[in-house]
Amino acid sequence: MTGIAGKVIAITGASSGIGEATARHLAEHGAIVVLGARRSNRLETLAASIISKGGKASYLVTDVRQRQDVAALVGLATERYGKLDVLINNAGIAPISRLDDLRVDDWDDMIDVNVKGVLYGIAAALPVFRRQGFGHFVNTLSTAGIRIVPTMAVYAGSKNAVRAISEGLRQEAGPSLRVTTISPGYVDTELPSSMTDSELRQQGQTAMKAIAIPASAIAEAIAFAIRQPDNVDVGEIVVRPTAQA
Ligand code: NDP
Repeated sequence: MTGIAGKVIAITGASSGIGEATARHLAEHGAIVVLGARRSNRLETLAASIISKGGKASYLVTDVRQRQDVAALVGLATERYGKLDVLINNAGIAPISRLDDLRVDDWDDMIDVNVKGVLYGIAAALPVFRRQGFGHFVNTLSTAGIRIVPTMAVYAGSKNAVRAISEGLRQEAGPSLRVTTISPGYVDTELPSSMTDSELRQQGQTAMKAIAIPASAIAEAIAFAIRQPDNVDVGEIVVRPTAQA
């Protein structure tokens, strides 16, 4: 099915930033969006806003660290709308720090959300996609995984784990499935709020104010991949501010 209209698209991390912008953009182009994240008030407001503009949206409180939550999100899409065309594994956190600081709990959290959360998405959607004979995974990586700098080691590692998983998935998928990765650079979102080191959080917020691009730029790029004909797989997308080193 070429295009965006009529596609059922589930999005994790839909309550703010890139996920929210992508949900709005895809819904404006006729997609039925199924929104997952932990903050129910944000999801409710977003779904209501999409519906008030004539779009179709449902939401389910979803913690991607819980396999059953991600399965339930995919289940909501298939039970309510009869299919799932696209799963956007977008939920992510970035409590970055230097390795010397040994913030091991933050390392665990990044692996749990950024890596295992994506794997749970694959576990939930892959059988559905196989049964249907079509499906599209869109996984959010980061330019942090391309140019690796101090404080970003574990975050970059989590994103590059998903890069490898995505390529393995593509290799195994066969001609009926599509796998896209998108690596945003600095995007103006709430991501710095997940930073537990206050100095780095401050720096992140300042850098974002200085050069970040809007989340809508990433939404446009994701929409580009989704609207291609079924036999066109947009593999890797990188979108960063021109001012980013
Ligand atoms: P936001 O903080 O605005 O969005 C992150 C989203 O992830 C929120 O909706 C949050 O929702 C959700 N999330 C966090 N933890 C969980 C969880 N355990 N279960 C379910 N959802 C969760 O930041 P962005 O929009 O920037 O982040 C989106 C993606 O983009 C992330 O994967 C991030 O790594 C990536 N990225 C962002 C860049 C940037 O500069 N902003 C650059 C490169 C990549 P809630 O708290 O309600 O659960």
